[in-house]
Amino acid sequence: MKIAFSLFLIHAFVACSPEGNSKKNTGNIAAKPNIIVILLDDAGYADFGFMGSEDLETPHIDELAQSGVIFTDAHVSATVCAPSRAGLLTGIYQQRFGFEANHTGDQYTGDIGLSDEVRTLADALKTNKYNTVAIGKWHLGASPSDHPNQRGFDDFYGFLAGGRSYFPLKNPDKKKMLQNNGKKVKFEGYLTDVLGDYAATYIEQHQKKPFFMYLSFNAVHTPMEAKETDLERFKDHPRKRLAAMTWSLDENIGKIRAKLAELQQLDNTLIFFLSDNGGAVNNESTNTPLKGWKGNKYEGGHRVPMIVSWPKEIEPQKHFDGLTSSLDIFSTALDASKNETFNTQHLDGVSLLPYLKEEKKGNPHKTLFWRKLDESAARMDAFKLIRLKGYGDRLYHLDNDIGETKDLSQTMDSVRKNMSTKLFDWEQQLMQPQWKEEKKWMDVTEHIHKSLMNNKSPKYTQPTKKR
Ligand code: CA
Repeated sequence: MKIAFSLFLIHAFVACSPEGNSKKNTGNIAAKPNIIVILLDDAGYADFGFMGSEDLETPHIDELAQSGVIFTDAHVSATVCAPSRAGLLTGIYQQRFGFEANHTGDQYTGDIGLSDEVRTLADALKTNKYNTVAIGKWHLGASPSDHPNQRGFDDFYGFLAGGRSYFPLKNPDKKKMLQNNGKKVKFEGYLTDVLGDYAATYIEQHQKKPFFMYLSFNAVHTPMEAKETDLERFKDHPRKRLAAMTWSLDENIGKIRAKLAELQQLDNTLIFFLSDNGGAVNNESTNTPLKGWKGNKYEGGHRVPMIVSWPKEIEPQKHFDGLTSSLDIFSTALDASKNETFNTQHLDGVSLLPYLKEEKKGNPHKTLFWRKLDESAARMDAFKLIRLKGYGDRLYHLDNDIGETKDLSQTMDSVRKNMSTKLFDWEQQLMQPQWKEEKKWMDVTEHIHKSLMNNKSPKYTQPTKKR
């Protein structure tokens, strides 16, 4: 939907993005790489073998991790689905264009979705002749102007809603129906397999030009539905539904890598792997040792497992500890594809390639910021500030306290003030949120933050009839 997007904001990008997009080319790559973003939904920080899980089996994802670099301090730009995706696909803090609350509009505004003033990574890669495909969950608007086909993707095979059943629905609405470029698709079987199969077929059929694939699995978001065969495999598992859904997800990621290997494309395919936000309270996930979960500003909400793999250019079996954002995916993809034509949008991310090639050291970002309505947070070096509007601040030092339990806001007031100033300055660059969330959910979110800020367990994590 068209919304006002002032020149002031464009100017603000320039003025306030000292860490802005690197246009520097790194390396001499004969053929442009394929680029795949594998985005999971609500996956737990600790729920993969490569992240130390001892009870969930992810052999193919672990292989992907071994083939590249594992990030230990990577963050999405929002702790819930839709704004996180808006940030990732535009490379801009989504609050700059008012995409701050979850979903894509509210009962008063109707469906607003992604601002017409911003371009997606697919738009950008079209300018240097990539084929582009979005597969799976969209959740960036259901109006015609926000359809993936209008936002840079030649091909869309997925659904517009924020979630749906993993099995065929009898009469799905237009948001929940599986579709291919607007046309309803009837499928059989299990959706994670269907999306994985489509991705593998797409790779097979698009070998002549490099492609960009946004592969947005809805796993492991609710509903907690898995195949009978997978449930049987994990029948004695205490988290059998999540274990089975994760197993299927892993199989399909393995399927895609096998197809790339079969076609000798694996070496020159740049793969990003991450979750759109932290593990949720309603899908059996674990974020250990992080505090919090999807929807709140503690690390469990926004620090995510992340892998970058590009065997041809990036040395495998490494860790990267620098402060990284999902907003960096856009700039990194432009750099990897040697895109010099897309210059219509100033980006908040930076290219990670110089860091991954060890040409640069340190943190890609000195600061990162988060805000969704009344809750905000800032990161500066190892310090983390959390603010609940009208209630107060908490300050933590993550090197010593990754679980965010020891509040330093009183003893280190000068740090708190400095970070508060930086947060304020960042907020001055943002647009008013274009829609809000339902009051019952805003109340729950406030209650959860108050509880966690006082190192207590919340009494409730979702609205009940009593409130
Ligand atoms: Ca999500």
